[in-house]
Amino acid sequence: MKSQKVGEGYCLGIESTADDFSVGIATFKGEILANIIDAYIPPEGGIHPREAARHHAEVADKVIEEAFKTAGIKPKDLTVVAFSQGPGLGPCLRTGATVARTLASYLRVPLVGVNHCVAHIEIGKLKTGAVDPVTLYVSGGNTIVAAFDAGRYRVFGETLDIALGNCLDVFAREAGLRQKAGEPFGAVVEKLAKSGKRLVPLPYTVKGMDMSFSGLLTAAIKALREGGYKLEDLCYSLQETAFSMVVEVTERALAHTEKREVLLTGGVAANKRLQEMVRAIAEEHNAKFCTVPSEYAIDNGAMIAWTGVLAFTHGAITPIEESFVRLRWRLEEVEVPWMG
Ligand code: AMP
Ligand code: MG
Repeated sequence: MKSQKVGEGYCLGIESTADDFSVGIATFKGEILANIIDAYIPPEGGIHPREAARHHAEVADKVIEEAFKTAGIKPKDLTVVAFSQGPGLGPCLRTGATVARTLASYLRVPLVGVNHCVAHIEIGKLKTGAVDPVTLYVSGGNTIVAAFDAGRYRVFGETLDIALGNCLDVFAREAGLRQKAGEPFGAVVEKLAKSGKRLVPLPYTVKGMDMSFSGLLTAAIKALREGGYKLEDLCYSLQETAFSMVVEVTERALAHTEKREVLLTGGVAANKRLQEMVRAIAEEHNAKFCTVPSEYAIDNGAMIAWTGVLAFTHGAITPIEESFVRLRWRLEEVEVPWMG
C-alpha cells in the first residue's frame, strides 16, 4: 500500500448506480481533472438493470482510458480508488464495484466505497461554494430533501414511491414524446410545458415531509388517454404540481433548519422552471440559491472521486471483503466527519 499523503494525491471515482457509467479523477485539493460519462440509452422503455450493467462492462475500459488521458495522469499516479457503493440497481452497482476492486488491487492502492447521495451533495458544495446547505436532490432515481445535522446528512423529506425524474420520464414515454439524441425526457416535457397555459387539476400529495408522485403520474396519464387536454397544458400542469410539492418540502426544511443556502442538484435540477421556484423560496428566507452545473448534477464519476478524497483523508478505507454493494444504503447512515 502507498502511504497516505493528505493534501496531495489523486483519486479515481467510479459511478455506476443506474444508467450512467462514469469515471472522474479529482486531486486532493479539489480540482476535477476528468469527468467522463457514458450513458446507457435503452432501445425502448425504461432502464433494464441487467442491460445497463452489460453496457457498463462494455464501456468501462474505454471510459477509464479517456479519464486518464483527459486528466493527464497515469494509473501509477493514483493514491486511492473510490466507487459508488450504493444505493442503486444491483447489477449496475456490482459492475462498477468489480472494476474498482480490480483497479485498486492491481495498483495496490486503497479502495473507498462512497454513498451516491452524499456524493451528489459534496460535488454540489465543491462546484457552487455552498458550505452547509439544505439540498434538494431530484433525479431519475431519487427525490430527497436533506441537510447536515449532528455528524450526518439527515433526510428531512423524500418520495414515498417513484422519483420526480422517473415521473416525468414515464409520462413522456406514455405521451409518445420523442427525444433528440442525448436529450432527456424531462427536458422534452420542459419545452412543451413552456407553451402550456391552463392548469389541469392533478393530485398534489405531501404527507408530513414526504411526497408521493405515483398518484400524480397515474392521473396525468389518465387525462392524456381520455383526451380533451392539450399536451402542453398537461406537461405544464404536471411540472407545476410536482415541482410545488418538492418546493414546499424544501421550504419547510429551510424554515426549520434556518440554513443560509439551498442547493439544487440531480438531473431534474437542469429544469429552468424548477430553478425559478427554488430560487424564489431561497430568496424569501434570505438564503443563497445554488444550482449545480449540469455535468456535475447528473450521475457522474467526479462526485465519487471528490467524496472519495474527503472520506479517505478522514480515515475511511473499505477493505475488499467489505466492499459488497449496498442497494438500499441510506444517506443518514453515513458519517461525514469532514463537516465537523
Ligand atoms: P440522473 O438520474 O441524475 O442521471 O438524471 C436523469 C433525470 O433527470 C431524468 O429523469 C431526466 O428526465 C431528468 N432531466 C434531465 N433534464 C431535465 C429537465 N430539463 N427538466 C426536467 N427533468 C430533467
Ligand atoms: Mg442517470
